Amino acid sequence: MLILMQKNATKEQIDAVCRRIVEIGYQPHQIPGSMRVAIGITGNEGAVSTEHFMQPEGVADCVPVSNAYKLVSREVKPEPTIVRVGDVSIGDGHLQIIAGPCSVESKDQIFRTAEVVAKSGSKMLRGGAFKPRTSPYAFQGMKQDGLRLLEQVREAFGLKIVTEVKDSETLDEVAEVADVIQIGARNMQNFSLLEACGRLRKPVLLKRGMMATLKELFMAAEYLLSLGNYDVILCERGIRSFETMTRNTFDISAIPLIKRHTHLPVVADPSHGVGISWAVPAMAKASGVAGADAVMVEVHPQPDHALSDGQQSLTLAEYEKLAKQMNELAAWRGKSN
Ligand code: PEP
Ligand code: MN
Repeated sequence: MLILMQKNATKEQIDAVCRRIVEIGYQPHQIPGSMRVAIGITGNEGAVSTEHFMQPEGVADCVPVSNAYKLVSREVKPEPTIVRVGDVSIGDGHLQIIAGPCSVESKDQIFRTAEVVAKSGSKMLRGGAFKPRTSPYAFQGMKQDGLRLLEQVREAFGLKIVTEVKDSETLDEVAEVADVIQIGARNMQNFSLLEACGRLRKPVLLKRGMMATLKELFMAAEYLLSLGNYDVILCERGIRSFETMTRNTFDISAIPLIKRHTHLPVVADPSHGVGISWAVPAMAKASGVAGADAVMVEVHPQPDHALSDGQQSLTLAEYEKLAKQMNELAAWRGKSN
């Protein structure tokens, strides 16, 4: 259920409704809007009786929410969510670019990449320190040493750091360094990790599982919001299909669908989506046209020598060219980067 407060409802009236929700055993979620505050209720198994909210002053209406995903839905919050990462906004109409290697591999590698990323006008650097790899024999990431390099590179270039958390055990140390915590496709339904990230007050980039429907993605995001973390960005990174010429099937239609059904910003990841470097720029641009709030691409100074995902990584020169085109696309969309 969603309680819509009157436009002129006072803070005391809003607090009184929230207290009432707690008294009857549920959790309130204040959702500020430009016109008025709405309060979502979670924790209920069946329908919540509207009777509880007839008395409190300031209540305009009680609306049942039909979706299983409540807090992420447009039904509950018609206005788009803008996730603020320091002075960088995702979801405000700008087209942000998040770029960097799949894995942090060395100081030279991450610094050379960051220099080009910063020079191109991008404000966010990606790079995994803890890598969830299909094979136990593959490079597992530089771990703590990788986190230290990410701290240094942020200091040197002022870029925001997006890095993946692999498990609950290492969440605290990753969260200390990350400006945005990435939950990877393989962890989209790691419910303990979702709960732990839901308790953090730090933006989370949640990737769609490789076999997940959009509804399952929304329900995974609901875990984060239901625990009070509203700074969630959803990421389309391709899904498994019968096609074998690409690594995954990049579901561009997910971009407008996510934006229609949820209020959360969307990041497109064409690198994992197609898995072939030459196809990444076309899909990155298509994502911008489809309405993505940000595009995340893998870049490496020497893709042929990358310790992970080299086949889908752009060279620095290829990235510079793409970034220029993305900036032109951003201007065409109406908000220059
Ligand atoms: C990554 O971003 O490098 C990654 C492991 O992505 P995904 O979880 O989408 O496979
Ligand atoms: Mn990767």
